[in-house]
Amino acid sequence: MATAPSEGVVVVGAGLAGSLAALFLRRRGDDVTLMDLRSDPRAAAAVAASAATDGGLSLLANASKRSINLALSSRGLRALRKLGLADEVLRDAVIMRGRMIHAPNGRTELQPYGTTDEEVLNSVSREAINRFLLERLSAPPEAGEGRVELCFKHKVVGLGKDGSLTVLDTADGGAPARTVRPRFIIGADGSFSVVRRELSKLCRLSLRHEYIEHGYLELSIPARPAGGRYGNGFALEPHALHIWPRHDFMLIALPNRDGSFTGTLFASWTLLEQLEDPAVGLPFFREHFADALAVMPDLAQELTANPRGALATVRCDPWHAAGRVLLIGDAAHAVVPFYGQGMNAAFEDCLALDQALDEARHNVPKAIASFYTARKPACDALADLSLQNYVEMRSKTASRLFVLKNSLDAALHRWVPSWQPSLHTAVTFSPMPYHVAKARCEWQDSLLGTAFHVSCALVGIAGVALALKTSGASARLGAHA
Ligand code: FAD
Repeated sequence: MATAPSEGVVVVGAGLAGSLAALFLRRRGDDVTLMDLRSDPRAAAAVAASAATDGGLSLLANASKRSINLALSSRGLRALRKLGLADEVLRDAVIMRGRMIHAPNGRTELQPYGTTDEEVLNSVSREAINRFLLERLSAPPEAGEGRVELCFKHKVVGLGKDGSLTVLDTADGGAPARTVRPRFIIGADGSFSVVRRELSKLCRLSLRHEYIEHGYLELSIPARPAGGRYGNGFALEPHALHIWPRHDFMLIALPNRDGSFTGTLFASWTLLEQLEDPAVGLPFFREHFADALAVMPDLAQELTANPRGALATVRCDPWHAAGRVLLIGDAAHAVVPFYGQGMNAAFEDCLALDQALDEARHNVPKAIASFYTARKPACDALADLSLQNYVEMRSKTASRLFVLKNSLDAALHRWVPSWQPSLHTAVTFSPMPYHVAKARCEWQDSLLGTAFHVSCALVGIAGVALALKTSGASARLGAHA
């Protein structure tokens, strides 16, 4: 890094949130320095690709294994659309029109997410979308845009009271730490955020980092030779998010453009550890996921070799200090992945911040304060909803009652358009703040519950009245007899 950007903005973390935030800021005319402790993921992909053409397929396989795919939905798309990026991102996505539920006996049932072409999820590669955003940042600025400096292998290690950042240039082996004093700092450095840790030294920041009992393990369903039942080498229906709900654990699979699927097993840590032994793991899959096992040729090796990941919710309060340091994305509000909203909410943060800066006419402290007031309750609600949806995905999706309830909500929505078709629709496909969606659907459910109880009571009263009438009539008949 050549000079300290005293007037510019520093974004810490060139992941999904940081890269998109930098694009929004550049468009506003701000000079942006984007720092990340990683090396440039575009360079890593190029090395992997050239190794693959040289016959180094295993390297490519390893590189792609890290690039789990993500469900991109309308909140994330709305932010990308504002910058004119949505179409290009969607070109590389695979549409998922609904949940494909796999019963233990191998029967499958598609539960559509919605009724319109808009109400679909899009499976995108994390690495590809990150690389795409970085490519855009590397393009020369257009008229009125600010300059962007990308600094990989730059690790932020401290934040001073005067708003200065201490940065280690790890590429420059052993170089002394440097200090920069930007006008505005955005901490987009993920759920173990160093900016957040440092912020807690400057203000009374409360933090809850709560792990759940379950973790995850990624597994692959490779593409088949072209053709086959689903075409293009897909071993399963490509336009669906596959779910094997088994109550205490579940397997899901999202499609990739190359015909493969990325599977993720969510289960207790104890079970995930037991499955490391193929003598346990393979019979377990044969018993619970027989149809998936049939399309997972590398399962035995992956059960042993693939890392297990932990799942946690991060809540902190506040997300900002001194009118110049702000947390966004997972650094502010990491959630468990069961609503597929972490990246979507991070992208929504970028859009909301852009709007707040517009409304505050570039007054950064004012924009930060109004951004936080709007986003904090929304992201707190998302954290709760994401935890609840684990139960829904691994248990309720398999139940008839769940399907019936969704059909009832959809029918009510047709009669009364303001009725939310389902909580899933409100969270995934509407722009409604998450807390508003949650409250609205809870209210609808309580209304339905009351209507159900009143109907039961009326049926009961009618039954008693009928019984009384019948017994009265037979008594009269008896008297006449
Ligand atoms: P990150 O992606 O973690 O990026 C943080 C960046 O900061 C990294 O590049 C890191 O190198 C850098 N960094 C960290 N520390 C420093 C430092 N000290 N100095 C400089 N740089 C630093 N979301 C969805 O919307 N849909 C899904 O389907 C979905 N599925 C998921 C499945 C799983 C299994 C998991 C775990 C998550 C899923 N998510 C999903 C959530 C999503 O991955 C995250 O919400 C998203 O990656 C958050 O982006 P971020 O930029 O805030 O953080």
